Amino acid sequence: MPRPVELSAVVPVYNEEAGIGEMHRRLRSVLQGLGVPWEMVLVNDGSRDRTAELLDALVATDPDVRAVHFSRNFGHQAAVAAGLAHARGAAVVVLDADLQDPPELIPDLLAKWREGWQIVYAQRRKRQGEPLTKRFFAWSFYRVVRRMTEMDLPTDTGDFCLMDKVVVDLLNSMPERNRYIRGLRAWVGFRQTAVPFDRAERFAGDVKYTFSKSFGLALNGIFSLSKMPLRAATWLGLTISAASFLLAVWALYVRLTGGYTVPGWASTVVIMLFLGGVQLLTIGVIGEYLGRVYDEVKQRPLYVVARITESRASSAEPVSHEARVVGR
Ligand code: UDP
Ligand code: MG
Repeated sequence: MPRPVELSAVVPVYNEEAGIGEMHRRLRSVLQGLGVPWEMVLVNDGSRDRTAELLDALVATDPDVRAVHFSRNFGHQAAVAAGLAHARGAAVVVLDADLQDPPELIPDLLAKWREGWQIVYAQRRKRQGEPLTKRFFAWSFYRVVRRMTEMDLPTDTGDFCLMDKVVVDLLNSMPERNRYIRGLRAWVGFRQTAVPFDRAERFAGDVKYTFSKSFGLALNGIFSLSKMPLRAATWLGLTISAASFLLAVWALYVRLTGGYTVPGWASTVVIMLFLGGVQLLTIGVIGEYLGRVYDEVKQRPLYVVARITESRASSAEPVSHEARVVGR
């Protein structure tokens, strides 16, 4: 029987060879200071550098660390999902591997949890060392999504948070593949509160979230939480139909009253292009939803675990489970 764990720290790791040692050291000293049984679940999201080796070395030296290795890169959200599925703690904290989410905030998050909050998310006050464009997109994205969904989605929060086991079990039981964990976390409800913090600069290595990955995450956020884009397409269609009807009435009126009608090819072309654009946009919106429905009906697992390394609690010897497929 594994001993009960009070706090699990889940860390998605992708090509972080430069910073993972320091991450482990800082996180460990924070967790050690809490005075409760803890564990670290490091999810290697198919890294192509020496991350896998380094994680296994950490497991060999630190019995409270477990490493879950994916068979390939499945993305940050899948890595967090896997971490949550493997965490055993009564509370689980999720944080990035690049030390942008300071582990030193964990005692504050834990204190709120002990006060009875089931979800304690860290809310960014500042983003250091991130390009202005990213800050602008992030700032506007959170506000747009908040308006589009009827949910109380907190702004400026990432995945850095602490969740009670009840919430973690709920998230684990959710079947959807296009996960936007921040949204699902807001969706479950319960007592939620925020702890403000300043997001630090990346400790080492490059940003792993490319623009297209961030864009994909943003689209998932919108389309998984809101039906408004579909409705917007309907409204757009209705508005344009009404406008063209009025235009037809006007054309008829001019014609009947013998007014001067120019062979107006310019206006025709403009209207044609406009309608073409609207149609493409609408098809695109429908496609976004359709693609997600397709992902869901395929029922593929969210991720594939190639192996897990953990130390046997008694002997502290690392064991490796080969080719275990987990995740719904
Ligand atoms: N990450 C991951 N899989 C990916 C991309 C990123 O597990 O495909 C991890 C990465 O190692 C880091 C976290 O997700 O721990 C956040 O990535 P990053 O720092 O690049 O994103 P940002 O801080 O810009 O949100
Ligand atoms: Mg980062």
